[in-house]
Amino acid sequence: MIIAERKPLAEIVEMVQDCKKILVLACRGCVTVCSAGGEREAEILASLIRLGLKKAGKKAEVFDASLVRQCDREYIDGIDQFKGKYDAIVSTACGVGVNFIANLRPDDNVFPALNTTFFGGSAEQGVWSEQCAGCGDCVLHLTGGLCPVARCAKSLMNGPCGGSVDGRCEINPEVDCVWQMIYDRMGRLDRQQEMTRAAPIRDWSSAGHGGPRKQIREDLSV
Ligand code: SF4
Ligand code: SF4
Repeated sequence: MIIAERKPLAEIVEMVQDCKKILVLACRGCVTVCSAGGEREAEILASLIRLGLKKAGKKAEVFDASLVRQCDREYIDGIDQFKGKYDAIVSTACGVGVNFIANLRPDDNVFPALNTTFFGGSAEQGVWSEQCAGCGDCVLHLTGGLCPVARCAKSLMNGPCGGSVDGRCEINPEVDCVWQMIYDRMGRLDRQQEMTRAAPIRDWSSAGHGGPRKQIREDLSV
């Protein structure tokens, strides 16, 4: 899922300081699961914005609502039920949701309440870790299911680098070197021989280096 965390309150209050009617809009997708921008968080944020604006001597109506998802045209239409009630939307969705509202509602002010951080999973209660960078050309079949793009600090395709020491990453010694993990895991799976094959030079064009990517499924498009 997409992992995100709330921006500092002062930053959000500053964004909306000149707005009079503010809709704090939750997303019931990924950001609910990672406890950053679901209904509960939007309700709390609405109260905090109210207090923050009051403290700054500003007057505004602030209310909260939610959409099933903010990354889907079908659900964005749900905003229309609040027409005339807001002059700004503070979205607690990830950056995709904020972009989608901006794309589909060209006359609406929309502000991000979250910092979108990465694609990850829940490692333990209250801890999420990055697992995939959406590179568009997955190599997990070559690396025992562990991602070198997202989890190696240098996104190496042929690690470990010379700086890996005792299974730790040279860039951040608190982090395990994923290439050491890949090597050990391939050994456990009796597949280390596969690692001696020369991999073709990686083509990074699928990873977004040529601008925003698009995926079209002919079988689903109308
Ligand atoms: S190789 Fe690419 S697609 Fe596969 S997990 Fe890593 S970043 Fe994601
Ligand atoms: S120590 Fe390992 S994880 Fe860190 S940059 Fe080198 S190969 Fe990548």
